[in-house]
Amino acid sequence: MSDGGITSRVLVGMEIHVQLATRTKLFCSCAVEFAAVPNSRVCPVCAGMPGVLPVLNRQAVEFSIAVGLALNCRIAPFTKWDRKSYYYPDLPKNYQISQYDLPLAADGYFDVNVDGETQRVRIRRAHLEEDAGKNIHDTPGCTLVDLNRAGTPLLEIVTEPDIHSAEQAYAFATELQRLVTYLGVSEGSMQKGQMRFEPNVNMIITRDGEEYRTPISEVKNLNSFRSVRDAIAYEARRQVQEWQRDNGYVLGKRPNENRGWLDDRGVTEFQRGKEAAHDYRYFPDPDLVPVEIDAAWLDRVRGQMPELPRPRQARLEKELGLSPKDAEIIVTDRATADLFEAAVAAGGPPDVLARQFVNVWSALANERGVAVAGLQVDAARMGRLARLTTDGTVSATAAKQIAERMLESPDEPATLAESLGLVQVQDADQTAAWVAQAFAENERAVRDAAANPKKAQKAAGFLRGQVMRISGGKADPRLVGKLIEERLAELRTED
Ligand code: ZN
Ligand code: MN
Repeated sequence: MSDGGITSRVLVGMEIHVQLATRTKLFCSCAVEFAAVPNSRVCPVCAGMPGVLPVLNRQAVEFSIAVGLALNCRIAPFTKWDRKSYYYPDLPKNYQISQYDLPLAADGYFDVNVDGETQRVRIRRAHLEEDAGKNIHDTPGCTLVDLNRAGTPLLEIVTEPDIHSAEQAYAFATELQRLVTYLGVSEGSMQKGQMRFEPNVNMIITRDGEEYRTPISEVKNLNSFRSVRDAIAYEARRQVQEWQRDNGYVLGKRPNENRGWLDDRGVTEFQRGKEAAHDYRYFPDPDLVPVEIDAAWLDRVRGQMPELPRPRQARLEKELGLSPKDAEIIVTDRATADLFEAAVAAGGPPDVLARQFVNVWSALANERGVAVAGLQVDAARMGRLARLTTDGTVSATAAKQIAERMLESPDEPATLAESLGLVQVQDADQTAAWVAQAFAENERAVRDAAANPKKAQKAAGFLRGQVMRISGGKADPRLVGKLIEERLAELRTED
């Protein structure tokens, strides 16, 4: 950013809490369940009763290792559990079991795509810890505590301050969500609080060759990717304005702050200053043994990991010739990408199949609030519909109608094309009759196309659409286009 003789650059380090999709909690056998009856998924361990003993959930460790490997981290051969002491009503033990000096994973990086360019974000560390419960403030005069979430496994990921724009933060957040859902280690829903992003934002401002750094704001309660992006953009503006008003607003001279994001107003609001570092009195948890992760265990976890989204996208572009955009959309959901590849393997032409995944199947899936794989149409039939379109048996428009019918009918696409009367008519006389009708019904478009070269293409496109409509989608668009051109050329020579 550059403004009034100063330039500024935003620095963002991200802290992310990812709720792991284990069946049970991190140190007890209570079920991890969203929206269960309050305090119905609680036992003496996660309620913090005295005298109980936590038992580590192995699945949570393996999920964390998988994320660590996918983020190119070093996995600690030896890691332990520490108590982080603080008092809050939703933390019945008065300490959180976390990892302090020996995190499970460290020193990695994550490459994200920002407008077609790869930008690397270094990962400082990723450690495993338990979540707290929830304080509920919706009853006047009191606060209720729900401990269902207490003890749920969280992977806390901390990046270096390598994010330099709101757009990069958005790309980072969405790609990280795609990664954890691909790995199957988290549902990754922001609405359900399964991924919580906390950007730490400050600015480097340069004026007359002198550099100034603003205090760091940590932005809380972001519950959508859009709010992650907007909050960072807002903070970047606010901090520069603050510094312009008060030149003492620099790191070290003014306190760092926690700020909350007000989604409806699109602003951040001061919550509390961070004058002194909290004394959490970390010390090793005497109830839990350290975890040793050897090469064999790492290999086992690595062997169970799927192909990751970025390399998969690159492979689909290279092997099947998909456009980066189509490949990205298809790869977003792992089951959908699997389905696509199965349809190609069953003989579907990749280019048409990709168009149908992006335009037809995705639209049907969106209407039903599922991913394409959730439509439950088998790959072979999808492949055969793409072939019918490629060989000209049905038009792209007709393919849409057939696809919709395929959701309820187990019939073959070719059978459905017949029964819906959508098999393309190659008969030139019949097609010419449809074209003649379209010309007769749309005199104005015809005049434009014949008289005005600037409007010719648009008018011809419009007429083509009319012919397809009149024919009930049965005309062959290529033949229609040719006949329209011929007729327009005739009209031009007549004038
Ligand atoms: Zn429990
Ligand atoms: Mn944490």
